[in-house]
Amino acid sequence: MNWHAEAAEDAARRLDVDWHAGLSDADAAERLARHGPNRITEQAARPAWKRFADQLVQPLVLVLIAAGIVTGGLGEWVDSSVIFGVVLVNAVIGYWQEAKAEGALAALARSVATPVTVRREGVKRQMDAGGLVPGDVVVLAAGDRIPADLRLFHQRELHTDDSMLTGESQPVAKHVDALQPDTLLAERANMAYAGTTVVAGQGSGLVVATGDATETGRIAGLIAAAPDLATPLTRKMATFSNWLLWAIGGLAALTFAVGLARGEAAFDMFMAAVALAVGAIPEGLPAAVTVTLAIGVARMAKRRAIIRRLPAVETLGSTTVICSDKTGTLTENAMTVRVVWADGEGYAVGGHGYAPDGDIRHDELPAEIAGPLRECLVAGALCNDASLRHEHGRWAITGDPTEAALLVAARKAGLDERTLAALHPRCDELPFDSGRQFMATAHDGESGGIVYVKGALERLLPRCRGRLAGNGQIVPLDAGAVEAAAEAYAAQGLRVLLLARGVFALGTPLTAEALDGLTLLGLVGMIDPPRKAAVAAIRNCHSAGIRVKMITGDHVVTARAIAGQIGLNAGRALTGRELAGLDDAALAAAAADVDVFARVEPEQKLRLVRALQGQGEVVAMTGDGVNDAPALKQADIGIAMGLSGTEVAKEAAAMVLTDDNFASIEAAVEEGRGVWDNLVKFITWTLPTNFGEGLVIVAAILFGATLPITPLQILWINMTTAVLLGLPLAFEPIERGIMRRPPRRLDMPVLDADLIRRIALVSLLLLAGAFGLFLHHLDAGRTLAEARTAAVNVFVLVEMLYLFNCRSLTRSFWSLGLFSNLWVWGGLGAMLALQLALTYWPPLNAAFQTAPIGWTDWLQIVAVGWAASLVIALEKRWTARRRARETL
Ligand code: ATP
Repeated sequence: MNWHAEAAEDAARRLDVDWHAGLSDADAAERLARHGPNRITEQAARPAWKRFADQLVQPLVLVLIAAGIVTGGLGEWVDSSVIFGVVLVNAVIGYWQEAKAEGALAALARSVATPVTVRREGVKRQMDAGGLVPGDVVVLAAGDRIPADLRLFHQRELHTDDSMLTGESQPVAKHVDALQPDTLLAERANMAYAGTTVVAGQGSGLVVATGDATETGRIAGLIAAAPDLATPLTRKMATFSNWLLWAIGGLAALTFAVGLARGEAAFDMFMAAVALAVGAIPEGLPAAVTVTLAIGVARMAKRRAIIRRLPAVETLGSTTVICSDKTGTLTENAMTVRVVWADGEGYAVGGHGYAPDGDIRHDELPAEIAGPLRECLVAGALCNDASLRHEHGRWAITGDPTEAALLVAARKAGLDERTLAALHPRCDELPFDSGRQFMATAHDGESGGIVYVKGALERLLPRCRGRLAGNGQIVPLDAGAVEAAAEAYAAQGLRVLLLARGVFALGTPLTAEALDGLTLLGLVGMIDPPRKAAVAAIRNCHSAGIRVKMITGDHVVTARAIAGQIGLNAGRALTGRELAGLDDAALAAAAADVDVFARVEPEQKLRLVRALQGQGEVVAMTGDGVNDAPALKQADIGIAMGLSGTEVAKEAAAMVLTDDNFASIEAAVEEGRGVWDNLVKFITWTLPTNFGEGLVIVAAILFGATLPITPLQILWINMTTAVLLGLPLAFEPIERGIMRRPPRRLDMPVLDADLIRRIALVSLLLLAGAFGLFLHHLDAGRTLAEARTAAVNVFVLVEMLYLFNCRSLTRSFWSLGLFSNLWVWGGLGAMLALQLALTYWPPLNAAFQTAPIGWTDWLQIVAVGWAASLVIALEKRWTARRRARETL
């Protein structure tokens, strides 16, 4: 169907819809049943078999497979099948962990709804994009993602970014005229295609194709992007593992050669080399990091922060500066007009919230709704795209709260916007835009065209020539008096809007340039109370060494007043105009000192982020509009608003707040710190096992002793402890006082000198304990299997006890509360059961060459375990004391 070649009216006829009213609900339901939901069938980025195969082509697994083949070739069937069994189990666990992490991330991404505005049953409403059907009338605004293929029939400065479909990165200006049938897809400017985005202007279109029938849907696989699980840390881990692999490969070859030179059997030496490789490489580390991050993602989602990019989980904990919008994030965005200033007089508006109850008073007496006061209210009600509803016993709004507040104020004066709009139908409009900072609508008035304008005082006052006086005359304007009144209201924290009107030649398009010679009608001042939760959250950020900066489009005096109320440093403020006058060096200095930035245009946010980053700061930045996208991308953590944000902003962001609340940012930072803590705990806990095992093998070869632990036993230890003991650390609750520490520097190594020393100490203790007990058993005439069983149990027991130690890196385990992480206990119980099975269950004895041991052996194992734990605990205490001394 060549929709672009048809006139819009013909398209509407063919789709059987009147675009003024939209479809009826019944018709839409019937079409939905016929066409199915507006959803593109997703294709898995990698088929399941390939994902499973990817688990097998990892260096360590390849070593294992080679070892399995060689041992099989030598006729050691038991060893060979255990090795292959382990390879398989490992791949299954890896596959499962990865699929779960990916699934959770993708589900979260989907949980951020994409509402669209449609016209149905004659009214505009919001609905989920999935319910769109051919024939629906979709209303587009800047920042929207186009939800289906549309034939446009109305547009106002509409520009879209079609790059995802056509590769063309310049915004495309749209129109509504019919085109030649052979026009190329990229040039069909009267169409808007699903998946592209509106970068400016507004428009309306008819849905002509949904779901897989859209142009995007036809290019299968285009949108099937699985979340990327790689983060800076997992990459570091992978490099570390690879590096270790080579080092250990070299060491293994060396031990093999040394052994042979000493006249040992080649098979034994080969097995020793395999044991070394298997033991010393921390193969589970990257997967464990991913799982820990995924758990962090889930925890953040519970606290209303949806992570869209996994690396953000890591970076959040290092945030040093949070740049936040004011309206809706630090304040409630529940606007109520408090005052109207007209004809030099202030009128108090009573009532709360969006209920149109309350009256307008002047000097305590009910005011007469006439003259400039009435014109102000009329302008506010007509130059308005919001709507008010009374449902379920309360008043609700659609659209911008600033505009809804103006509707409420007008209704309090008995002026209903629907009646007004019927009297003065709108013929054109200039939508509100954060860059322009005002909105204008043209109407068919009683005596010709009239334009109503509302917006920021600085932008509109210069365009005003005169002022409407009480007698209906236009009198000269005293700009100073208007500014003084606005300033006085702003100082009370009120958001102040200027209202004006002008003449308009009917039949001409409304342009911003032509808006001049306006007549001032008056000002309105509205309150937007600060969020209570934001005050506490800002306090927590400050004690966590994080600066909070308010970057707002609002007036500087209002911004400072609100900043003062919520505990920000409101001493100095910079305006967008002042910012524009600063060079980069001056901006960098100012950005560091000042915490309140007002009348900032979205484009300036990018400069601010860069300036702060240039000072070494890790910047989290909020945004909601299309123009915020570059700054959101540049920030270390771009944060979009889930409720009020545009789709474009959400896509550019690394994190989306489902409640638009500043306090959720602070919560996410806290979780981010917790996740990092748990990662470091896991690494500190797991590395000694690997290093200890490696040391045991190397020592055995160097001293010509029999291997105290066989390769299979090493596989056993690594597989069981990593899952049962290591994973519970990812569930450790956040430590008390985590928000009283300074932010972690991003360039700091994962492990500091203290932790490296602790890892070395535990590795050596494992070597001494396991080797010592092994030799002691052999001396006492025990069998090799019994001696090895004792050594394996020493390893596992020390790791079990060391797990308690690692639950906090600085504090003693009893100060954490023994039962604050029940996963640990579950893991310990399961681990104990498995060790008993390994020691006493004949099939496992046969497979892993272990043997039952007596209770005196257990006493010795426990004694070794306790002794090792005591040394580790003393080291921790000593380190904590030294650190405390250093910080004094
Ligand atoms: P923040 O960036 O903190 O969310 P904001 O919401 O105050 O700030 P903008 O929405 O960019 O910032 O608004 C900037 C200014 O534009 C406001 O101070 C107000 O004067 C004016 N303004 C806001 N909303 C409207 C609107 N719907 N119509 C006309 N003017 C508006």
